Amino acid sequence: MTGGGRGIGASSALALARSGASVALSARSMDELERVAGACREAGVDAIAVSCDVTNASAIAKAHERIAGELGAPNVLVNNAGQARGIPFLKTTPEDMEHHWRLNLMGTYHCTRTALPAMLEAGWGRIINVASVAGKVGSPYTTAYSVSKHGVLGLTRCLAQEFATTGVTFNAVCPGYVDTPMTDENVRLIHERTGMPEADARKRLEAMSPQRRFMAPEEVAGMIAYLAAPEAQGVNGQALTLDGGGVQW
Ligand code: NDP
Repeated sequence: MTGGGRGIGASSALALARSGASVALSARSMDELERVAGACREAGVDAIAVSCDVTNASAIAKAHERIAGELGAPNVLVNNAGQARGIPFLKTTPEDMEHHWRLNLMGTYHCTRTALPAMLEAGWGRIINVASVAGKVGSPYTTAYSVSKHGVLGLTRCLAQEFATTGVTFNAVCPGYVDTPMTDENVRLIHERTGMPEADARKRLEAMSPQRRFMAPEEVAGMIAYLAAPEAQGVNGQALTLDGGGVQW
């Protein structure tokens, strides 16, 4: 589980632990990872916290080696680590584009390349990518983020076709706004840039869902746990949306 220290990654790691899976959590903040690993162990499974920046390919290789040594090669990879910065297009610099690309798309690419060979050898595996509704539709101020998440869906769909007969499946989840620290940060930034009170900024983002609410991280976690389960073997190359009904494909 990349980005397993908080938000969607932390909830998803717990959901997988409760389904009986040993869990390896990675991110940069070890204190957060250790807390989530402790909660997973309380669910009765093995769990380890591994420091890894997914923009660094050699750090990913090292993390994988440690995980494979301690828990065995992963048979489920959740590419969840990511970041979203809302920026108007004319203020979006090449560095902003590259930052989102390297973290959200290339991080997913590198982790997948590292974990896939052992899954192919085992004849079973799950690659689950946390994309976004921003990977399906465009919206203002999200070019850098949205382009990277569209790329994640392209990667998911190509690999699903290329490896369809191997026992490994590739799927993506596409949430709308989720109640996580990332969304808190976006609310804070809207307040900082526009002066809008944070409570109003929150309501405005909530109103983007037909259900007028943020999704809960546990809802995304439930979808991820489903995709990781044996019953989901026929689900491949899909981008499952969870946004209260706004994006209906
Ligand atoms: P959070 O900010 O709450 O958590 C992000 C996690 O990713 C943290 O554990 C963070 O840890 C880790 N992370 C960030 N940068 C890196 C990096 N370079 N290397 C390794 N780990 C990293 O975000 P959310 O839980 O909200 O988001 C998780 C995923 O869900 C992201 O891919 C996001 O794009 C996607 N998503 C989120 C939505 C939302 O509304 N929140 C909606 C749709 C999709 P650390 O900083 O310590 O490395």
